[in-house]
Amino acid sequence: MNAIVREQILDPSLLRMRAAFDRQRAAFGADMNPSHAVRIDRLDRLLAMTDRIAPEIERAVSADFGHRSVHVTRLADVMMVQSAIRHARRQLKSWMKVRRAPTGLAFRPGFSRIVPQPLGVVGVVSPWNYPYQLAMGPAIAAIGAGNRVMIKPSELTPRLAELMRAAVAECFAPEELTVVTGGTEVGTAFVGLPFDHLLFTGSTAVGRQVAMAAAANLTPVTLELGGKSPAIVGAGANLDLVAARLVVGKLFNAGQTCIAPDYAAVPRSAVGPFVEAMRRAVARQYPRLAGNPDYTGIVSERHFTRLQGLLADAQTRGARVVPLHAEGMAGGAAGRVLAPALVLDPTEDMKIMQEEIFGPLLPVLAYDTLDEVIAYVNAHERPLALYWFGAAGAEQDRLLSGTISGGVTLNDCMWHFGQEELPFGGVGASGMGAYHGAYGFRTFSKEKPVFHQSRLSGTALLRPPYGRTFERMGR
Ligand code: NAD
Repeated sequence: MNAIVREQILDPSLLRMRAAFDRQRAAFGADMNPSHAVRIDRLDRLLAMTDRIAPEIERAVSADFGHRSVHVTRLADVMMVQSAIRHARRQLKSWMKVRRAPTGLAFRPGFSRIVPQPLGVVGVVSPWNYPYQLAMGPAIAAIGAGNRVMIKPSELTPRLAELMRAAVAECFAPEELTVVTGGTEVGTAFVGLPFDHLLFTGSTAVGRQVAMAAAANLTPVTLELGGKSPAIVGAGANLDLVAARLVVGKLFNAGQTCIAPDYAAVPRSAVGPFVEAMRRAVARQYPRLAGNPDYTGIVSERHFTRLQGLLADAQTRGARVVPLHAEGMAGGAAGRVLAPALVLDPTEDMKIMQEEIFGPLLPVLAYDTLDEVIAYVNAHERPLALYWFGAAGAEQDRLLSGTISGGVTLNDCMWHFGQEELPFGGVGASGMGAYHGAYGFRTFSKEKPVFHQSRLSGTALLRPPYGRTFERMGR
């Protein structure tokens, strides 16, 4: 018996997790195609639960982060989940519809249909940065598609994880929806369960391990990962408008967002005015940092130290750090508030240009030609998001067709994520598969092709002996 198997057999929490999985599997077997009404009832319960515990969600996430803007929690965790549930409720009937597919002449009057069917038991592994939204968002899609769902939230937001576990246990039978809490060991065992689909949101490094664990069971995976998303400023862009929008994208949740702009590429001649425009925008949006209910702290001591290390490394290697706030870089360990800063003259050997930043620091790459920027983006891992600030036209087209990224927002940041009917997901190192709206429903469904044969059919001509058939066809 190998060590992992022995550990799983002996550890009661892992045994309970396996039992929960088996129970969901059995329940799914007993009702493999829940009706529209059953699914709506589950979504309604999730909405009512979210409405009821919203204030507790805000308190729990703030406490987990040390200091998390309650406004960010309300917007990105609570309201986004509420709106995704409402959208799913409205659209569910049309998503569940059996669709006719075109049928070739030789097969008529037979006909073809596509029948969406739930997959079974879905596993969701979620990160800490939007801990309610990224746990419940995939669950909404999986429930809408008629599946049973198990969620494993991040251990870095333990209060929120416990709140979700208790609230879900109150509102749902464990065979419908359940939350399993715990750290890496639980996560490792969780992704080893033979789920019918697994959606993982987190880092690229862990995503790779999850994909390998899932492969052992041939469990299909959707991987929602991270990376370095560029924001490219075109020559002639209105810098005040660019800065106002970049500051929202970069400083929302203090940059701890998978689709936050990771670095900016700015025409060389515009770097000076860009820095000034960024300073003005920060001053307008965040008049103060200390005690500001809109500004979020860094989630853990480890990440706080990591971010300070990125700055120190960049400075040692010759970059200029430009504080974006009048309070300078003081920030302060209280609530692990890290002040926003630009990093000018970054070079490839700096860690800040190698790893996903996930904090309020923005390196600024000066460029001479757009082709140079396109080549830079393509020489690196495919980003989760790409942003372009500039007029529609040849340059924008060149950028769109010359780069591959998970998604794009033009003339702003992040808003492609908020579109209920755009597929959200990465590509290459930033992930695989997608969800949101109908795409989430399809991710968690088997779209079963069904061909209905008719009594009289052209396929009768395709019976042996085939020599005669070929003769008739002149082949
Ligand atoms: P992480 O990869 O460290 O952890 C994510 C989850 O995986 C947690 O629940 C954790 O407990 C679990 N886990 C850790 N090790 C595991 C293992 N070996 N096996 C199974 N599960 C394991 O990520 P994080 O630090 O929580 O989140 C930040 C990362 O997530 C960033 O890279 C960010 O870009 C990415 N992210 C992506 C999206 C997206 O939608 N694409 C959204 C938010 C965050």
